[in-house]
Amino acid sequence: MQERKTECTRRGFLGTAATGLVAAGLATLAPGRLTADETESAKKDIITRKLGKSNISVPIISMGVMNANNPGIVQASYEKGVRHFDTAAYYQFGRNEQMVGTVIKKMGVRDKVIIGTKIYTSQQRVTDPKEAKKKFIKMAEGSLNRLKTDYVDILYLHDVSDPADFTNPGVIEALNTLKDQKKIKLAAVATHSNMAGVINEVIKGGFYDVVLTAVNFTMADDAEMMKAISDASKKGIGIIGMKNMAGGSRWPNPETRRNYSSKTIAKAALKWVLHHESITTCIPGYDNHEHLEQNFEVAYDLEYSDEESKFLTDNDIALGVGFCRQCKKCLASCPNDADVPTLMRVHMYAAQYANFQHARQTLNDIPKQNGLANCLLCTTCTAECANTVDIGRRIDELKLIYA
Ligand code: SF4
Ligand code: SF4
Repeated sequence: MQERKTECTRRGFLGTAATGLVAAGLATLAPGRLTADETESAKKDIITRKLGKSNISVPIISMGVMNANNPGIVQASYEKGVRHFDTAAYYQFGRNEQMVGTVIKKMGVRDKVIIGTKIYTSQQRVTDPKEAKKKFIKMAEGSLNRLKTDYVDILYLHDVSDPADFTNPGVIEALNTLKDQKKIKLAAVATHSNMAGVINEVIKGGFYDVVLTAVNFTMADDAEMMKAISDASKKGIGIIGMKNMAGGSRWPNPETRRNYSSKTIAKAALKWVLHHESITTCIPGYDNHEHLEQNFEVAYDLEYSDEESKFLTDNDIALGVGFCRQCKKCLASCPNDADVPTLMRVHMYAAQYANFQHARQTLNDIPKQNGLANCLLCTTCTAECANTVDIGRRIDELKLIYA
């Protein structure tokens, strides 16, 4: 292990917690079967961090597999040094889990990687604890089958925003049973709405080991959420970051990118998250080698380049991105009950991630009485949004694609 110093420049914004970053070679993570590429990587000190109070350490850059349907990119990620793969039963109707499982099994590296997967409980709305337990264990076993493994390292309750989503005694019992059976190592929740509320509730409950949360530079002013992250980490809860690029290089308004390259945007955004030492690793979603390369460069070095610093302190960028924090404050303002936050996510998946299958799947899950057709583009809700989300334009674009 060795200490690295990370430069903090230009306002506290750029790095609030960038001291004493723990760096370690990959040798401890990948014994045996080292490829030439891995041997080369090991020499360069990939930065790794421990996940809460577990005995798991991973490189600070992981792979969010959601947008990928090419097994080659999963394999290339492993060969590059990625050791943590994040998937979900919901992604591609289970095919995403199947792809991860097939690649890891074929490479014979199950004991060298951390697999996180997610299952929905909130959508089932099963309140009877016995029924909830039965259903949950069945869903978890479905994931194990698709992943072709006897255990997952991190099992998440997918997309929770309300404590009722993750405090059902039946679900807690199911997670304990799965732990006893050694089918899961860590129990976790994933949240991209009401993040501070969820994290604080997790701290209070003292049951969950890990939280996967949306966090990025456009949310720097959300002191409550940043405090919750730090508090959770101090309590030994592992924190993993998602939506770290606020939509990445395909932002809705191309003009908001100004003259910054995709590489600058991606690297600056990931570094901003990882300058918070409470956050163990990020799971950027990517589906090509260029993005793998540029993301993984961050695993070796968290110092900002001049251009990255300039990008992060450019107020016009933070305002122009209009990242939807899924705060749901706009919901009450719609006279037609349109589910604006979920529609904003559909827009992000389609326009920013170019993941049209996931966008369609999410759109189809919106109850008809809250769907896209309900929006009459009156723009009332736009005035309610404190985060400069140009709701009207995004819904207009969704109507062009899906109407
Ligand atoms: S559109 Fe604005 S108000 Fe509505 S959920 Fe997103 S950030 Fe919140
Ligand atoms: S634009 Fe009007 S109709 Fe459409 S979601 Fe907003 S408030 Fe509802």
